[in-house]
Amino acid sequence: MTNRSVPAPPATRELRGLALYREHGAEIEPLGKGVYTVPGCSGGSYTVDLAVFGGTESCSCPDHARHPELTCKHLAASTIYRAKSRAKARREQAERTASRAARGSVAPLAAAL
Ligand SMILES: [Zn+2]
Repeated sequence: MTNRSVPAPPATRELRGLALYREHGAEIEPLGKGVYTVPGCSGGSYTVDLAVFGGTESCSCPDHARHPELTCKHLAASTIYRAKSRAKARREQAERTASRAARGSVAPLAAAL
């Protein structure tokens, strides 16, 4: 027996965050600067601050108030949302750059050869 006294292991909260993202990810609303409104499982919503410009992550849910040292499921769900949004934005930027290159600077160079 270890002397860990944390009520629930972080992996459980992270898995619950993944489940929350899968079920309600489309309802997460970015408010800007790493702040999100995240739906609660039993109605209502919480405000999550991922502290992307420094400081400490926070969530307005009761679980985070009790265990601010842990990642609540809303923090986990909004972290997944942010990662997915950033990946999508990078993909779209790469596609725009590729299509600009195909239309513009590469074609005249190819014609000159
Ligand atoms: Zn929370």
